[in-house]
Amino acid sequence: MLNTQNCRTLLMDTARRLLTIDSPSGFTHRVVEEAETLAREAGCATRRTNKGNLIVEVPGREEGKRIGLCAHVDTLGLMVRSITSDGMLMITKVGGPILPTLDGEYCKIYTRDGRVYTGTILSLSPAAHVFDDAATRPREEKSLAVRIDEKVRKKADVEALGISAGDYVCFDPKTTVTDSGFLKSRFIDDKGSAACLLALLRLMKEQGLSPRYHTQVCFTVHEEVGHGGATLPEVDELLAVDMGCVGEDLTCTEYQVSICAKDSAGPFDYDMVSRLITLARDNGVDYAVDIYPHYSSDVAVAWKAGMDARGALIGPGVHASHGMERTHFDGMKATMDLVGLYLELG
Ligand SMILES: [Zn+2]
Repeated sequence: MLNTQNCRTLLMDTARRLLTIDSPSGFTHRVVEEAETLAREAGCATRRTNKGNLIVEVPGREEGKRIGLCAHVDTLGLMVRSITSDGMLMITKVGGPILPTLDGEYCKIYTRDGRVYTGTILSLSPAAHVFDDAATRPREEKSLAVRIDEKVRKKADVEALGISAGDYVCFDPKTTVTDSGFLKSRFIDDKGSAACLLALLRLMKEQGLSPRYHTQVCFTVHEEVGHGGATLPEVDELLAVDMGCVGEDLTCTEYQVSICAKDSAGPFDYDMVSRLITLARDNGVDYAVDIYPHYSSDVAVAWKAGMDARGALIGPGVHASHGMERTHFDGMKATMDLVGLYLELG
């Protein structure tokens, strides 16, 4: 069990450093730089793959097995699809945000030549005093648009700002840490888990701990669009650390680490899941075992790409995923503890 002193501050600071950097899938270079800085602060060697994944090398105490951990630092987002005749930006989804939750959110538009503009995502029936269907119009791709904070009256005005189809639109994560220990933010899936892994690396350095076997910690950047785990290094076991589901038909809470036995891609490795359950139970880590019918992860992608590795998935319980998410320090700490036990730190 890891020493909890300073753990909360370290963990929440790490989470904040990742969460406040816009990084929808395909636009992740800045968050990868930050994760790389955090890994180097923890004394680790790093490398990047052509597709943009960050691999952190953690030497083990003995030979015999190759271990992989993965968490994704890409997030949901939007992209400009087209510009309307009156200068609004129509959007297309990157990944699967719950679109009605975006109505009214502040956002940034990143042009390809490096300019950044602000705006607000709104329904195309945004005014109660103007539209009969202001409250009832579906909030979907074809009826949500970005109102840009510039004086634009027509399409050419927007084009003159350097904005065009294919520019990223990033909505505000609204990251907040409460005194009661909650982390409230968009994109806790999966930067909450990435923060757990990076904070664990930092604590391992401070306490002189190393894993039993050589471990590669992989921060992937295409999970939300379905191919993040396709190009991971060859390992014997791959443990994905990704958000745990909370809600109907599930037992996990925000205060626990979730151990997923089966997701929409099928069951995880029987031996690994059983080992994780035993480790949590025998060491007093608060955990839940659940089935996720609406979920897939980088492990399934790695398997479909042909990786011959055992695979499992754990992560802190996250409420309202792909909307306004929330988790608690207790769930993140339980996740760090279980990862530490899995790695047989010593
Ligand atoms: Zn995720």
